[in-house]
Amino acid sequence: MSPSTTTDVAVIGGSTAGLRAAEAVARHAPELSVTVISDESHLPYELPPLSKIPLHDRVDIDTLVYPLARDLRDKGVDFRLGTRARSLDTGSNTVHLSSGGALTYRALVIATGCEAVVPPPFADQRGVHVLRRFEDATALRAAVTDPKAAVAVVGAGFIGGEFASTLAKAGRTVSLIDLAAKPLGRFGEPVADAYTALHRGAAVGLHLGSAVTDVVERDGRRSLLLTDGTWVPADVIVVGVGVRPAIDWLNGSGLTFDNGILADATLRVSRNVFAAGDAVRWPNARFGAPMRIEHWTSAAEQGRAAGINAAKLIHGDTGDGFANVPYFWSDQHGVRIQFAGCLTGDEEIEESSTGDGTLFLYHRGGVVNGVLAFDRRADFVKLRALLRRELTRRAADEFLR
Ligand SMILES: Cc1cc2nc3c(=O)[nH]c(=O)nc-3n(C[C@H](O)[C@H](O)[C@H](O)COP(=O)(O)OP(=O)(O)OC[C@H]3O[C@@H](n4cnc5c(N)ncnc54)[C@H](O)[C@@H]3O)c2cc1C
Repeated sequence: MSPSTTTDVAVIGGSTAGLRAAEAVARHAPELSVTVISDESHLPYELPPLSKIPLHDRVDIDTLVYPLARDLRDKGVDFRLGTRARSLDTGSNTVHLSSGGALTYRALVIATGCEAVVPPPFADQRGVHVLRRFEDATALRAAVTDPKAAVAVVGAGFIGGEFASTLAKAGRTVSLIDLAAKPLGRFGEPVADAYTALHRGAAVGLHLGSAVTDVVERDGRRSLLLTDGTWVPADVIVVGVGVRPAIDWLNGSGLTFDNGILADATLRVSRNVFAAGDAVRWPNARFGAPMRIEHWTSAAEQGRAAGINAAKLIHGDTGDGFANVPYFWSDQHGVRIQFAGCLTGDEEIEESSTGDGTLFLYHRGGVVNGVLAFDRRADFVKLRALLRRELTRRAADEFLR
């Protein structure tokens, strides 16, 4: 059995949030030791390019690894790769590891993110891929090397849409299937229509409002049977139907869960434990609502905040509240889609187009809750900045005039 070791700050999960947490401690409290436990075999690397890199380009881990990760390792941050956290004992401040050893901490940051969901009828089928980690991307790209292979992408959200776009750009036959008749419907009908038109215009075969009921091999080829009776060729299947927080290892820890790890406004989940990134649900004071966000920028920002608060706790200082304007970007068919804000679903939507693209402004009671853009990059950047504080519809309209 490996021995027990100690560290000032333990970070569990070595990706977007974990890296920023480690960086924040190393910068703000360089006298503290930091240990990052990651079940991956690579230093933290960029995930967003995995769905966007052109099909014929190599997906190279050396170029994806964040230079910051190498820098932190050189400065003494202990990255323990290929090591899984198996359980947490908050009473004795100990994380039990897959190596058989244990890590004792003064403060802990949980940043284990999310894992892809593979529902029936896809579970245990051959040639079914998800896209969450580097190895997923290399396996998927190897599976689609044959230009005659028909690819079916199940789930028209951002990851599915981006990979369908990457395939279409390479001239490949690709079908995009979604249960929802209006993909991205939570952003309203005009956005769903614009998104659908974008894919249709790029010759992606769209099958919307249909579920997959069966996966069938016929004459050496494989097809998906949809609820509307359509057969979709599917030599390769990419499942992009969503993710769930990777928190099973915390069973029995005494932490509280409700669609993620529940944290307070300072991202603290218990006495000396913080959480950051895709796995945490916290009250976002900017919008007065609890939320869990599955996007890069929030994960990075929360990682930094949790790292600083972990260092402060060790120094006996009070942690700062974390609030932000949720933001994401997605690149599909040469268009950058961006969103900033937080929607309740009952906003009115104001659409405005120029030669630079289209903006969708979401407002309710005279207040703007969010903005979504298809390109219109310069205007979006300004509106995103304005959203840091309450933004009236009138102020936004004046800006756009
Ligand atoms: C292909 C792809 C493209 C994306 N593109 C965009 C984009 O264009 N725009 C955008 O805003 N967002 C994008 N995202 C989302 C963004 O990358 C994530 O929101 C962000 O990485 C979340 O960071 P995280 O650190 O919270 O979690 P994750 O990135 O999920 O990392 C969690 C880490 O913890 C590890 N781990 C899990 N359990 C354990 C354990 N028990 N012990 C040790 N380690 C563990 C995991 O292996 C992983 O390394 C994309 C994501 C993917 C997968």
